[in-house]
Amino acid sequence: MHLEDWDEPIQKPYRKLQVDDLPIIDVPETLDYRKLLADYEAQHRRPLRPIQRRAKAKHRVPDSLTCPRCQAPSSYLYANHGGKGQYQCKVCQCRFNHRNRFTKQAVFRCPHCKKTLEKIKERKEYNVYKCKNNDCPFYQANLRRMTKKERQPFQQDPQAFKVRYLFREFLFDFLPLASSSLIKPKVDLSRLAASPHVLGLVLTYYVNFGMSSRETAAALKDIHGVSISHQTVLNYANSVALWIKPFCRPVPV
Ligand SMILES: [Zn+2]
Ligand SMILES: [Zn+2]
Repeated sequence: MHLEDWDEPIQKPYRKLQVDDLPIIDVPETLDYRKLLADYEAQHRRPLRPIQRRAKAKHRVPDSLTCPRCQAPSSYLYANHGGKGQYQCKVCQCRFNHRNRFTKQAVFRCPHCKKTLEKIKERKEYNVYKCKNNDCPFYQANLRRMTKKERQPFQQDPQAFKVRYLFREFLFDFLPLASSSLIKPKVDLSRLAASPHVLGLVLTYYVNFGMSSRETAAALKDIHGVSISHQTVLNYANSVALWIKPFCRPVPV
């Protein structure tokens, strides 16, 4: 469709961005390893010994590592799972991950039904949690909202529909986003020649209205008096897509 062909304004709704509520996060109480060691000694009449490590132990535990729950020093920490950054504390038994050691212990609960979320996927960059409660109001409301047309494919392939509450726990730091961590896009958005406002316009026409890159460039020129090429539209859209990809990758459920 060309801009000239438009006789009347289109009545096309924006593609809605769905943002889920955050889960309820229960952070377990912290413990004191000194007290736990004293309790152990009182109960067993002998102290809990630090872990004996062979001199050539394959999976080393960094000396600076402490248990996130009870602060026990590294001499009480086992390296689990072949040393892939998973540890277990001998004093309080908690398991943790060096990359996400503080939140690892947190329990996520569904904001709609308050039931504990189940971890359904573990990826390098994120974990996916799901509310599997059939009585969850979020799930029930989504089922009710379904049109007749959607119902049939849903029954055949319930996995293809997002009807249950999902939460994605990202495991990476957000800081490196500013410089290096991802594949370098063609356009460095932090050094954009156009203003963020123009970038916003480009994305609105190109993404929300689904116009082609040429139509978008024409609209910018005709409506806003901004001259940019259709290739620039593509470059901007691709750069933004690369940056936001890890945050909106569809989750097969
Ligand atoms: Zn501990
Ligand atoms: Zn729920």
